[in-house]
Amino acid sequence: MTTTPKPLIAGNWKMNGVTSGLTALRTIAEGVSQHTDTFDGLICLPATMIERGTRLCNGTALLLGGQDCHFEQSGAHTGDISADMLQDAGASYVILGHSERRADHDETNTDVLKKSLAAYETGLTAIICVGETRAEREEGRAMEIVSNQLEGSMSKDANSQNTVIAYEPVWAIGTGLVPSNHDIEAMHGHIRQVLSERFGVEGESMRILYGGSLKPSNAEEILRTKNVNGGLIGGASLKSEDFLAICAAV
Ligand code: PGA
Repeated sequence: MTTTPKPLIAGNWKMNGVTSGLTALRTIAEGVSQHTDTFDGLICLPATMIERGTRLCNGTALLLGGQDCHFEQSGAHTGDISADMLQDAGASYVILGHSERRADHDETNTDVLKKSLAAYETGLTAIICVGETRAEREEGRAMEIVSNQLEGSMSKDANSQNTVIAYEPVWAIGTGLVPSNHDIEAMHGHIRQVLSERFGVEGESMRILYGGSLKPSNAEEILRTKNVNGGLIGGASLKSEDFLAICAAV
């Protein structure tokens, strides 16, 4: 018998925030710590802020993560950050294959898979992002695109502890647009089926997050959709009141 996974409410601060923004992080950490029985709370910070964030959130239940890592742990890769470095700074999660990285840095499914292996080696949980563009949805290819991304970006070593999937339609990120509830349920059901077929029981209990213009106003409806096991939140995670309002909707 598989159990429904505990929801994960994850914030993605992207390239926003300097240390003055850490006041919001402390407020989020205190809010999240009051509800550890209902969900896990995570903020994926810019790499430069993780160590300060770790110290500031010490003693709270808030988890911290990075937003990308290299597929090697050290070496001649100017400007890159390894999974070991993220963990050393206090991270326990890392976002991989976000559509902004796939677009801005030409990251391929194979790159994402290799990075996930580095994350597993370090003991970080990988949040692997998938999602179709507007054109792909209009062509009726959304499920095919997401299947291909899952197939190519996930290694056979993925399991329900070391991996979380985030379904983020590219056209919904930062636009205020969200798919209909019917479309979210259909896609999450599809992802669940793909994961179950490939990973068996592990795939049945792997968390599948929804991301893309998730806000306090739509959180309740989205988060209670079947096979939605939490959210990946960009813009609305920067303000503690918005992030905590989304948490309250779980
Ligand atoms: P958004 O971003 O909530 O601002 O749409 C989500 C994401 O990119 O993870």
